[in-house]
Amino acid sequence: MRVDDELRLTPTLPDGRGLRIGILTSGGDAQGMNAAVRAVVRSALSVGAEVYAIYEGYQGMIDGGDGIRKFGWDDVGSILNRGGTVIGTFRCKAMRERSGRLKAVQNLLEHGIDRLVVIGGDGSLTGLDVLRTEWTDLVAELVDTGRVSPEVAREHPSLMIAGLVGSIDNDLVGSDMTIGADTALHRIVDAIDDLTSTAASHQRSFVVEVMGRHCGYLALMAAVAGGADYVLIPERPPEDGWEDRMCAELKRGRQSGRRDSIVIVAEGATDRAGNRITSEYVRQVLKDKLGEDARVTILGHVQRGGRPSAYDRWASTWLGYHAVHEVLSTTPEAEGRVIGTGANRIHRLPLVKAVADTKSVPGLIEQGRYNEAMRMRGRSFVEMDAIFTELSEPARTETEGVEDADRKRIAIMHAGGPAPGMNTAARAAVRLGISRGHTVIGIHNGFVGLAAGDMSELAWGDVEGWAGEGGAELGTRRETPSTRDLYAVSRALEDNHIDALLVIGGYSAYEGIHTMTTERDRYPAFRIPTVCIPASIDNNLPGSELSIGADTALNVIVEAMDKIKESGIASRRCFVVETMGRDCGYLALMSGIAAGAERIYTNEDGISLDDLANDVHWLRESFAHGRRLFLAVRNENASRNYTTDFIARLLEEESHGMYDVRQVVLGHMQQGGSPSPFDRLLANRLAYRALNLIDDELAAHQDGPWFIGVNESDMRPSKMETMPSLVDSAHRRPREQWWLTMSPVGRTVSDEVR
Ligand code: ADP
Repeated sequence: MRVDDELRLTPTLPDGRGLRIGILTSGGDAQGMNAAVRAVVRSALSVGAEVYAIYEGYQGMIDGGDGIRKFGWDDVGSILNRGGTVIGTFRCKAMRERSGRLKAVQNLLEHGIDRLVVIGGDGSLTGLDVLRTEWTDLVAELVDTGRVSPEVAREHPSLMIAGLVGSIDNDLVGSDMTIGADTALHRIVDAIDDLTSTAASHQRSFVVEVMGRHCGYLALMAAVAGGADYVLIPERPPEDGWEDRMCAELKRGRQSGRRDSIVIVAEGATDRAGNRITSEYVRQVLKDKLGEDARVTILGHVQRGGRPSAYDRWASTWLGYHAVHEVLSTTPEAEGRVIGTGANRIHRLPLVKAVADTKSVPGLIEQGRYNEAMRMRGRSFVEMDAIFTELSEPARTETEGVEDADRKRIAIMHAGGPAPGMNTAARAAVRLGISRGHTVIGIHNGFVGLAAGDMSELAWGDVEGWAGEGGAELGTRRETPSTRDLYAVSRALEDNHIDALLVIGGYSAYEGIHTMTTERDRYPAFRIPTVCIPASIDNNLPGSELSIGADTALNVIVEAMDKIKESGIASRRCFVVETMGRDCGYLALMSGIAAGAERIYTNEDGISLDDLANDVHWLRESFAHGRRLFLAVRNENASRNYTTDFIARLLEEESHGMYDVRQVVLGHMQQGGSPSPFDRLLANRLAYRALNLIDDELAAHQDGPWFIGVNESDMRPSKMETMPSLVDSAHRRPREQWWLTMSPVGRTVSDEVR
């Protein structure tokens, strides 16, 4: 991919006055499509373009009439939280025929539409590009047959397009995530969690079938996030004799302390001869070979249903904004583009190539080119497969083959506020550490416990069930070691013969390790490989664009805000909701975008009296013109004096009876809850990378303290010494925060042009 195809900064939308954009959703529905539709409509309106919703996919384009409707700002109000697509979707046969497309172009021209945003799967995007390439011919035919005037034809010489991928399968080659995949994973992982508790009670096995005809994304990610024992995916058909190996693994798992066994099967899983492996077949194998009375659960369409996750709302909003930029700024000669995401950047992919690559994967699988098929799914897919393999192979490695003298003692601990996913990371670290022949020691209660020598060995079975548990079983404390505590810390490390230290925590964890780094000359015990991985709902850690726990907190906040909005819809009401985050506005901004807040106050942007005066004025006008609900989100430290209470009172005082105001401080619920699938996956990947780094350091007899995180296209470690240069220590947040580029997107979709 060319570098100029990656967009990190959010561009200003070009002038759209006089231009008309059509938007449609097509193919299978996916949660988050509504967020994208809303963003396209509002982004277009905000720069003066006109927007037409085309109903029921390409069918509305072919039918014309009521199938194509002009949309205003409020036509996409209150749809962010709804699953499916409010403008309908359809698998339209007529669109595959030239005669159908001719009719479609005629209808588009009747409305003056020559720019299209289509949200759908590879089929829908193919149809879009076919329409673009045939446009000139089709228009010429319409002119020749007198159905369109030559003047209209001259005004619309070409069709400009942008594609967004709506697909729960996450199958588009070249994009990290497709619209709907994250929510589908939420549905699946929730189901696995529920099944695990009943399975564990009866010591039962479950075979869970998930969607994915050609793509194993949902199955593999659900297997890692749900802590399953075995997974079957289309990209990597198992070698002959897999039935025996699967049973042996499940058996070992039971012997190591598991009370349940979960096997995940992608609906398109096959063996190497191309025969489908059905969930029923897996059940039969478990019965025949293990005597297990396994139960089959086929999750089916629930995976497509329900409210979109926080990610599917904010990311789809971001994509919709960029799709409008694309159709307004592209040229008639330029090739069609798909707007996708990768590593927190927007990617503009060549549509034809992206679709062709996507369609080539089943062929690769058929030809037995499994490694290539896996690689087409991206680096993290391949890595996740390796992680799953290592994590799910229990006792085989627990004691075998490693001389006691070679066994290293790796300690893991938490520090900082609790973050959902800490347990997931600890579980992964324990199991991966054991699988590599190490002894893993759990330090209890952060630096306080470390100084007190409060630690114990953790066995493979001790972390059973931790994958989906909120909180932190090892305990976490905010205290960092003072210079006086360092001696005790050093003694504890020495007495317990700790060879390496893995710290899963927040800002305090990093600070504590940084302090220890600066005192290495005085305390040789600190000269051991040490790695910090970011776990904090605030998402305020250096060297990582995302930290474990932040996505879960966002989901908790957005769910709460949905309920708050529902409670207020019957009256004329303003809500001022306060989120956590300390001086970091990540939670406020992203939840505000995901929940459709009208105002978002963050510490980074600050709050001025002028802003507040404008807001009051706008609010009064808005309620006078029929508004029923207003939602403002305020980050807890957005301003020292303009507090949540102050803003709520100000709005109330100025309401003149037009509306009432309620303030909601969400509080500690934001730190709780079962970690989201994304946080579980991130926790697993970070723990894996941290252990790789520790192993490398041990092998090379090095001891550089590191922190590791998600950045750009990979996870890279940074030296602990660089921390002060990367953070704004007064505000305890990174100097550079990528997500601030989302701020204009949030304003565009929430501020009606005034
Ligand atoms: P998805 O978009 O989810 O892959 P489909 O493959 O069913 O779903 O495509 C959705 C719709 O896109 C089709 O019903 C059809 O209207 C249109 N479409 C798909 N492929 C083509 C094509 N080759 N030419 C024209 N239109 C197509």
